Amino acid sequence: MKFPQPDMKNVLYILLLVFTPFFFVTSIFAANRSVCIDPGHGGTDVGSVNGEILEKDLNLDVADRLATLATQSGISVFQTRTGDQTLTNRDRYTFCNEKGAGIVVSIHHNGSNDPTTDFSMALYMKKSDVDLARSIVNSLSTKLGTTNGGISRFASGVILKAKMPATISEGFFLTSSYEYTLLKSASIDRRQDEAQGLLDGILSYFSTH
Ligand SMILES: [Zn+2]
Repeated sequence: MKFPQPDMKNVLYILLLVFTPFFFVTSIFAANRSVCIDPGHGGTDVGSVNGEILEKDLNLDVADRLATLATQSGISVFQTRTGDQTLTNRDRYTFCNEKGAGIVVSIHHNGSNDPTTDFSMALYMKKSDVDLARSIVNSLSTKLGTTNGGISRFASGVILKAKMPATISEGFFLTSSYEYTLLKSASIDRRQDEAQGLLDGILSYFSTH
């Protein structure tokens, strides 16, 4: 007795029908797990200053560390600047939008005339930014041991026209004399701790969105 042989063309067609939606779904989830990291200021725009430490350099250092940690965690990373360039806000959000990043995290450090002022905060613009901003400031203040200053609405910067959830992180006050001591400490790596705090916030956000 002879069994009919299955037509290989039909078998391939059925496999294609079954697996194509699966690949589409997984590629959508993978695309969401990407972050556009924006180191604030740069070039002629130095940001806040404490002694020889310029905010633009600190922002870039923390951004580079976050990019390494995020990549190691399987998150795709885009970065608006990797050197000391002057960028407009438009350059920044246009870059992140064109890359189609899942989220935007802009890295800044606050400034004040009072050297005792120090806390973490995160800025948001639109409703869909709120959860990300909360997640970032909560993780940062936990990791850095800073006062949690919560989130504030801010209609400017890279978050103004970012099409995806976006936040500006103000990790701590660069102008704080306490933070200056920590940044110069040989035993405490404030920059690495901050990068880890930012990653924790991003992972926590991705776990629920
Ligand atoms: Zn700044």
